[in-house]
Amino acid sequence: MPIASVYIHVPFCRTRCHYCDFVTRATSDPIPDTYVDGLLREINRKRGHLARIVTVFFGGGTPSLLAPAQLEQVLNRLAQQPGICPDAEITLEANPDDITETLARSWRELGINRISIGVQSLDNRVLRYLGRRHDADRARRA
Ligand code: SF4
Repeated sequence: MPIASVYIHVPFCRTRCHYCDFVTRATSDPIPDTYVDGLLREINRKRGHLARIVTVFFGGGTPSLLAPAQLEQVLNRLAQQPGICPDAEITLEANPDDITETLARSWRELGINRISIGVQSLDNRVLRYLGRRHDADRARRA
């Protein structure tokens, strides 16, 4: 059976880093459900072209700003036919500032089995220069 990899872009961040070249918008608001509704509609439209999914990658932007319930909606929709392989790699990009133990547990319960943490540097001067929200200590704790 053909296999597929799915990339889902989450174009929202808390602040805009100075070097950023990605499609994203800075906002202090929660990620709107209307965006997630749009994702679900797009998955439905593409369903006829989807094969069995072996990797899912939530990139951004800052996917760790998605509420667990929003992530669950997207993953549930992807899990419908032809579905996600049981051993699929499911990755979420996360900013160190967002990671808490509770959130990490939720991600694991949702089947997310790989986290890509945007550390960028463990030198606070570099982090300030880049306009990152976190410092080195926060990155280590994350
Ligand atoms: S967190 Fe990433 S996507 Fe967001 S503004 Fe910074 S570099 Fe860009």
